[in-house]
Amino acid sequence: MSMFCYQCEQTAKETGCTSHGVCGKDPETAALQDLLIHISKGIGWYASKLPADHADRRPLAHFVTEALFTTVTNVNFDPETIGPIITAGSKLITQLKDQVKAEPPTELAASWEITGTTTLDMERQGVAVSPWTRAERLGAEVSGLGELVMYGLKGTAAYAQHARVLDVEDQGVSDFFLECLGFLAEEPSDIDKLLGMALKVGEVNLKVMELLDQANTGTYGHPVPTQVRTSPVAGKCILVSGHDLKDLHDLLVQTEGSGINVYTHGEMLPCHGYPELKKFKHLVGNYGGAWQDQRTEFDDFPGPILMTTNCIQKPRQSYQDRIFTAGLVQWPGVKHIDGHDFSAVIDSAKASPGFESDDEPAFTMTGFGHNAVLGVADKVVDAVKAGKIKHFYLIGGCDGAKPGRDIYTETALAVPDDAVILTLACGKYRFNKMEFGDIEGIPRLLDLGQCNDAYSAIKIAGALAEAFDCEVNDLPLSLILSWYEQKAVCILLTLLHLGIKNIQIGPSLPAFVGKSVLNVLVENYGLQPVAPLDQPGDAVPTA
Ligand code: SF4
Ligand code: SF4
Repeated sequence: MSMFCYQCEQTAKETGCTSHGVCGKDPETAALQDLLIHISKGIGWYASKLPADHADRRPLAHFVTEALFTTVTNVNFDPETIGPIITAGSKLITQLKDQVKAEPPTELAASWEITGTTTLDMERQGVAVSPWTRAERLGAEVSGLGELVMYGLKGTAAYAQHARVLDVEDQGVSDFFLECLGFLAEEPSDIDKLLGMALKVGEVNLKVMELLDQANTGTYGHPVPTQVRTSPVAGKCILVSGHDLKDLHDLLVQTEGSGINVYTHGEMLPCHGYPELKKFKHLVGNYGGAWQDQRTEFDDFPGPILMTTNCIQKPRQSYQDRIFTAGLVQWPGVKHIDGHDFSAVIDSAKASPGFESDDEPAFTMTGFGHNAVLGVADKVVDAVKAGKIKHFYLIGGCDGAKPGRDIYTETALAVPDDAVILTLACGKYRFNKMEFGDIEGIPRLLDLGQCNDAYSAIKIAGALAEAFDCEVNDLPLSLILSWYEQKAVCILLTLLHLGIKNIQIGPSLPAFVGKSVLNVLVENYGLQPVAPLDQPGDAVPTA
């Protein structure tokens, strides 16, 4: 076995990628990512022992947050850029050992610093600390539960990084990253403690999603319902994918008046609803669908593409010279933008043909964040009380490349006419261009936003429960989630932390969750695999 990774839904044979990642991650990159995670645990162990007000805690938390996000699925595939991060992390451990006079309880601590100087040395060291070695040491159940905590933490780190880009962060959250990594560094084997930490990740992730919501809405305003063109218009063009609102904003500023049109792709679609982004007239529309279709869509797009975060796939030769990365996302040989200076992207757009003519107009809707939906809460509550709306379905989450995800399309189409569909993340592309109509003027399909806008879903569910004087679990609400990578893991942990029951997830269950842990999740939370839609018989609250 030259690598072992099972952190995402498309892992090989639903057990683990062992020779090459299905995502395109090679064994070299996998080993370096494993070593970076291992060193980050060491940093967490030492840093969490610094005094609570120590000035180094914050920069150390920034380091591990970026390290965690770097190793999320479809973010960084470039070993040349991971090596220097590992070296920097190793130096931090050396410094921390001097500062913190404590003896780590595990012999693994000896490998928290790099032991050689070359990339090959690092790879060898990384292979020795892969998830597979933990499974051999601790057994699959315990190590898998540790990975559940780690993968949730990775997703939370991604959201924390998105918020920090907009200068919003929280010391308690930063401290938790260090504390949780320190906890994992000790390789605990107590199932209850591990489950407790997994739920704690969910709790902290809720706080982080709230911070990100504050960052996005505080900077760009609350999203408003917005019709978005999904067919091209004539002219030079740039396509922006990923999740980063600031990258899109800065690109819009830098392209204003240039005659270049900007399109969103994938998870950037909800950006059209933010007042401070939609005000740019040259943000003309949304192009394509979810991340897994990008190789065909980018191929066809007659201009440059900017990948601001995950999910990047191996670029085809046909567009290798006109795709750019920014932030933490990297692909070997792809030009990387530092410092929000998008001149190279703009030059590429000017040199590209652009769209020759307008296509037939087509549209979709977005912008139904919590502020917009709760603004018409009375109308929604009245429609429920009058029996016009009988049920709510949250259908969404990460989309993916494996077959079997049509079940989400089929489910959306099977939703009865007297029910409303809430959706979010890139899973929405399975049905967001279909016509669902409205109930008493309330659209039957409400796009809440990106995956982190699960926060909106939680707020809306909480407000409905309050209006009907019941628990969220008593609402006529079905949660049908698709998962792919680690952001989805932390959202699931948040929902479990909140005590939400009977969630359906799929299309397949996480390979890292062992049978006994799954039994706990099934027994305590009613977690279920996604299944064809039954007509709901839930009673509608009438209070
Ligand atoms: S991220 Fe997913 S596809 Fe990529 S190597 Fe890991 S498990 Fe395999
Ligand atoms: S929602 Fe998940 S799968 Fe979709 S683009 Fe975002 S991170 Fe990737």
